[in-house]
Amino acid sequence: MYKIKNAVDGKLVESSSERAGAIFNPATGEQVGELPLSSNEEINAAVANARAAQPDWGQTPPARRARIMFRFLQLLNENVQDLAREISREHGKTHEDALGECARGLEVVEFACGIPHMLKGEFSRNVGPQIDSFADRQPLGVVAGITPFNFPAMVPMWMYPMAIACGNAFVLKPSERDPSASMLAWELFRQAGLPDGIFNIVHGDKSAVDCLLDHEDIKAVSFVGSTPIARYVYERGTRSGKRVQALGGAKNHMIIMPDADLDAAADALMGAGFGSAGERCMAISVAVPVGKETADRLVAKLKPMVEAIKIGPASDETAQMGPLITRAHQQKVLDYIDQGEKAGADLVVDGRGFSLQGYENGYFVGGTLFDNVTQDMSIYQDEIFGPVLSVVRRDSFEDALELIHGHQYANGTAIFTRDGDSARSFAERVEVGMVGINVPIPVPVAYHSFGGWKNSSFGSHGIYGPEAVHFYTRLKTITARWPRGVKEGAVFTFPS
Ligand code: NAD
Repeated sequence: MYKIKNAVDGKLVESSSERAGAIFNPATGEQVGELPLSSNEEINAAVANARAAQPDWGQTPPARRARIMFRFLQLLNENVQDLAREISREHGKTHEDALGECARGLEVVEFACGIPHMLKGEFSRNVGPQIDSFADRQPLGVVAGITPFNFPAMVPMWMYPMAIACGNAFVLKPSERDPSASMLAWELFRQAGLPDGIFNIVHGDKSAVDCLLDHEDIKAVSFVGSTPIARYVYERGTRSGKRVQALGGAKNHMIIMPDADLDAAADALMGAGFGSAGERCMAISVAVPVGKETADRLVAKLKPMVEAIKIGPASDETAQMGPLITRAHQQKVLDYIDQGEKAGADLVVDGRGFSLQGYENGYFVGGTLFDNVTQDMSIYQDEIFGPVLSVVRRDSFEDALELIHGHQYANGTAIFTRDGDSARSFAERVEVGMVGINVPIPVPVAYHSFGGWKNSSFGSHGIYGPEAVHFYTRLKTITARWPRGVKEGAVFTFPS
């Protein structure tokens, strides 16, 4: 059994905390590791270290910071198989899926390599007689990231590469379920030449999060996780004067119009609904076919596909879907299937009885398909975060749009259609942050920014991309007059 350490000031540090958390292999249910649940003293020490290291880093020319970022990118590419294995071992997702996660995380590091260009600032000559004005984006100081279990490498990479490239020091509190991928990335960043104290990892639970949220030397917090915690982090962090971006949960709808290519739509629903066992914030969990005929044909196509999903541990190269993250989460998903059945939805494929020989204690749930789900049911209202796809039938495009607008979550959505009018109208009118047109998981690339609307996101900045430069820096505007010695006497009116 391995023991995870904190990473502070360029070193791995044995924790002195009396509290520890267990790390499990979700495919077997066995404990494989342990991590410290750090004390406030340990968190404070990490922040103090980061604070001491940041000014030099903030003064380091952006091009030099970018060179370290390039080396980090190279090392990540050389070690990507190991990174994916670390993800799968603790999260349970298939190796191919973990490699996909790495690719999307590395994209952000690629983007961060261009930081000199993004920090160029603005300059206006002669805004007044011999007066020039320029605007400069300066780092905030020490910033923190708090991340969920479902993308243990990618979601932290949405944060620290951009924050660090902007000249900040970073303290990461990764998910206590699967911390190892971030530990490997930390080691690679260190090898790339990042100065000590600029990237730190402290492990912990709510108490560590609260300590970071209240710490006066933490200037900004990026959070990704479930909506109740996102809202809490946003409120508590902003109350202590911090800049906070807090991304929450989701219930993503996909409209299937009568003119859509139904085979393509069914394939898309399989990948987006059941990939990573539905544990993605951009998973499609609600299919909204328009018209009875579309719905009947779609459900007939999906049923055998859901029944045929190959489920297995990450070590099985043929597996399409792995286990859920914890026993408690497995039970929660099974409870939702019970609730859906009791509420009167048609259980077309029931994933409850699934068991795998040799992995009987793993946290598996089979692919599950419900038809005729209605708006009042808990399986529609709540984020289940499991391999459960609900079909909610609607008679028209307008009804489908209204359905989406009635939901509290607004992270991602998609429409499948061959009709440009419907697609364009959907993109323009739908009140959701990220929209796909014949693309089921419209996660923006690294040079755009990611973010949902409504209860899927709190705070005004999207994560990564150009928005990250704004989030992790503050603007200073300097108005300068040269040469010195111009004398115009005391002026009491407003400068114009
Ligand atoms: P979670 O909210 O349970 O945990 C996220 C982080 O918050 C973890 O680091 C955890 O230690 C910490 N935390 C947990 N309880 C806390 C508390 N009471 N007080 C303070 N901190 C606490 O989320 P999770 O189960 O790890 O991840 C799944 C959730 O994340 C889903 O809801 C999913 O939709 C969401 N998610 C959203 C996005 C997005 O971009 N919007 C991306 C990935 C995941």
